[in-house]
Amino acid sequence: MQVTGSASGFACLLERARAGGGRVGLVPTMGSLHAGHLSLAKRARCADDLVALTIFVNPLQFGPGEDLAQYPRDPEADLEAAEAAGADLVFAPDEAEMYPDPPLVSVGVGVLGQVLEGASRPGHLEGVATVVAKLFALAGRTRSYFGEKDYQQLLVVRRLVKDLSFPVEVVACPTVREPDGLALSSRNARLSPTERGAATALVRGLEAGREALRRGAGELAEVEAAMAAVVEAEPLARLDYAAVRRDGDLSLPERLEGRVRLLAAARVGPVRLIDNLGLRIGGEAPA
Ligand code: AMP
Repeated sequence: MQVTGSASGFACLLERARAGGGRVGLVPTMGSLHAGHLSLAKRARCADDLVALTIFVNPLQFGPGEDLAQYPRDPEADLEAAEAAGADLVFAPDEAEMYPDPPLVSVGVGVLGQVLEGASRPGHLEGVATVVAKLFALAGRTRSYFGEKDYQQLLVVRRLVKDLSFPVEVVACPTVREPDGLALSSRNARLSPTERGAATALVRGLEAGREALRRGAGELAEVEAAMAAVVEAEPLARLDYAAVRRDGDLSLPERLEGRVRLLAAARVGPVRLIDNLGLRIGGEAPA
């Protein structure tokens, strides 16, 4: 496995792989790799000739007062894990390499950047879109792998590709969970054992929403209240939102039918966690 911190080196290696007839798989991450990230790399390994994983904790997507300084970092373990998952190349630039000048130009994401995560973290999704656009510009033609765990981010990336015509095929990968249902996240490492137990409130809330729909709940508010009640019953969790939205664009469903997404965010101890479930009303769809 090759490792580079150089943006031009990264671009050249991918270009060379394509010139030799290879297909390139790209897995963008912020490191502190866990089995969720590695599932993306393994999926790429099955489909692509060269698998490139990127590691960059992108300051643009952290707001003032957020956890940029505390974000878990473990570069040595990351390289071992990336290699074990089958990556051929890791691009791990420092901030000066990615942003030699304070960025002046950024990518706006409209209403998708204003609801849910966008409402709670103003500028976050624009920061994501900007760094992903930069990675796509460096990487060229790729198949790029993103987790459904960050569902709104996945939608933003899909629109980024469509609206700005990047030569990228976006592949959505299912959320990897702990045996008790908690979605894997780099931030889970910052939870104390008690907080770790409390963190399952998020997925239990989503499951309560799914149950309410299965039982035939007809009102959006009823489903959202069922989700919120479970999270709020956990003393260590502070609910941010529990929402039912239309799958694909996160708009408010006029009627509870077809494909919907249940999404929730809560603060547990020092970290803010998000999770979601996709389902089809009148027949569950894979998440
Ligand atoms: P991050 O390092 O948190 O920016 O995540 C990098 C990529 O891994 C994103 O596409 C995430 O959606 C994906 N990812 C993070 N956690 C999981 C998970 N538990 N299951 C599947 N994909 C994940």
